Amino acid sequence: MARYMPDGWTLPEVNDLNRPFFTTGKLMLQHCVACDTVQHPPEDICRSCQSDNLDYVESKGTGEVYSYVLPHHPPNELLNTRIPYNIVLVQLDDHPHVRLVGNLVDTEPDDVKIGIRVNATWEEIADPNGGPAILLPQWVQAK
Ligand SMILES: [Zn+2]
Repeated sequence: MARYMPDGWTLPEVNDLNRPFFTTGKLMLQHCVACDTVQHPPEDICRSCQSDNLDYVESKGTGEVYSYVLPHHPPNELLNTRIPYNIVLVQLDDHPHVRLVGNLVDTEPDDVKIGIRVNATWEEIADPNGGPAILLPQWVQAK
């Protein structure tokens, strides 16, 4: 799959906390062993009970568009040829209190609606600095 955003668009900075999310090709969410809360984005401690006993669980990667925005005025010149583009906030089926931001990559902006069923997909993006590739979670409409 070609990258949805322009090639020069900024990549997330991978660190120890978000590495499972950005490098596994699975929708890995941080889970608190102490209180069973699932949270995203990952943090040093659980936002519910402040425990630092955290691991990761895999989401099924299905959900629906909870909200969206279709930028028409590029906030950066790299986006001059990309507007309008789809930014969706997805509510996950298996962790409904977790909502993830991404691009809906297979849908024309006029067809983006609240409630659209979506599945996670991944864009493999080479690190221009020679580091490991990022597998960026994105969204496609469920068939
Ligand atoms: Zn907790």
